[in-house]
Amino acid sequence: MSEIQQKPFSSLDISSEVLKAVDKMGFKFMTPVQEETIPVMMDGHDIIALAPTGTGKTCAFGIPMLEYLQLNDTDIQELVLAPTRELAVQIADELTALARFIPGARIATLYGGQPIPKQIQQLKRKPQIVVATPGRLLDMMKRGLADIRRIHTMVLDEADEMLKMGFVKDVTKIIEATPKDRQLVMFSATTNNDVMTMSWKFQYEPVEITIAAVDENKPKITQYVIEADRKNKEERLEYLLDADEYRRVMIFANTKSMTQRLCDHLQKKGYGAQCIHGDIPQGKRNRTLEDFRRGKFPYLICTDVAARGIDVDDVEAVINYDLPQENEYYTHRIGRTGRARRHGVAITLMSFQESVRMDEILRYLQGDKPEKLEFDDMGILRHQNGEAFFDNI
Ligand code: ADP
Ligand code: MG
Repeated sequence: MSEIQQKPFSSLDISSEVLKAVDKMGFKFMTPVQEETIPVMMDGHDIIALAPTGTGKTCAFGIPMLEYLQLNDTDIQELVLAPTRELAVQIADELTALARFIPGARIATLYGGQPIPKQIQQLKRKPQIVVATPGRLLDMMKRGLADIRRIHTMVLDEADEMLKMGFVKDVTKIIEATPKDRQLVMFSATTNNDVMTMSWKFQYEPVEITIAAVDENKPKITQYVIEADRKNKEERLEYLLDADEYRRVMIFANTKSMTQRLCDHLQKKGYGAQCIHGDIPQGKRNRTLEDFRRGKFPYLICTDVAARGIDVDDVEAVINYDLPQENEYYTHRIGRTGRARRHGVAITLMSFQESVRMDEILRYLQGDKPEKLEFDDMGILRHQNGEAFFDNI
């Protein structure tokens, strides 16, 4: 879709405050999921929206949420549930940016891993909007600190991930504590039984919105594989980094220990590398992510769980140091690049043992087959057609 066919945000019937904020964020035209979701959500319908990552779902629900806000009401009115802390923080940041010109809007972010008192403080300020992970919200509810009985709009973001992560019970409990006639909007990259069950149980005549990952709308990611074995993986990785072609790279490893080890190794060799994984305290993880986002260092090494839902603009390349154990993780990982229609590169370092897994992943993807890159006798990485992959080494 060319920009000319896309509708500008100014065509929406929304407040000048939100419009100004969107403009300040640098957005002029709506993405397809925004164009389809915003008016329907503002009409009060329940929605189940299926859209690939990087298509702008946060603003799709964030804009209607801010439009509904009753500023002089001190109840929690709107609730967003997200599967991970990182994602909750990110959603709250985006909502805060959208609410920039609405001085009375108060947003609380509740997630595990951070001392409770700080978050209790946020609740005492009577937020109208709460963004939370299910566990921490339930905890606050049990303590009598979060009353969600007057919620009118509830959003489940990354519903598929959230339900897969074993939050079915928690999410059910939370929904059951909200009024029966509240609006329930679900966003999901894929659909599965849990998502459908949740919809069936709690939604009223939901409007289905499906955004296919096609053409222009699909993030442009070129995929490559490079054969490597346990012994030369580090060397291969260093070759890719030494080309100095990419300023923001996410490198995925399967385990916390591998992530840490690789990070230590790269740091020792003088690369600007930092890592995030489950054994690193949340505060530190947030700071690392913020620094990465700001471009303070180029290489972020992470596990799948720590990276879930993270949205960093301008990730130029994703490198799979290990092949993921779950097929979907591959899609999630490479989806960290090529966001908002930028072009991205995904490179997988694949050992012989991993090639079987790679075949499985490719069958699962049913999509573009990655190109195999090979090192020549001189140790130069080349495309299938013989051209050097990097022209500067
Ligand atoms: P999703 O939740 O679908 O994965 P996000 O809401 O995280 O996607 O948005 C992906 C990226 O696109 C973010 O960097 C966001 O700021 C940007 N973005 C969102 N809406 C627009 C828009 N209308 N125009 C340009 N960029 C946008
Ligand atoms: Mg999202």
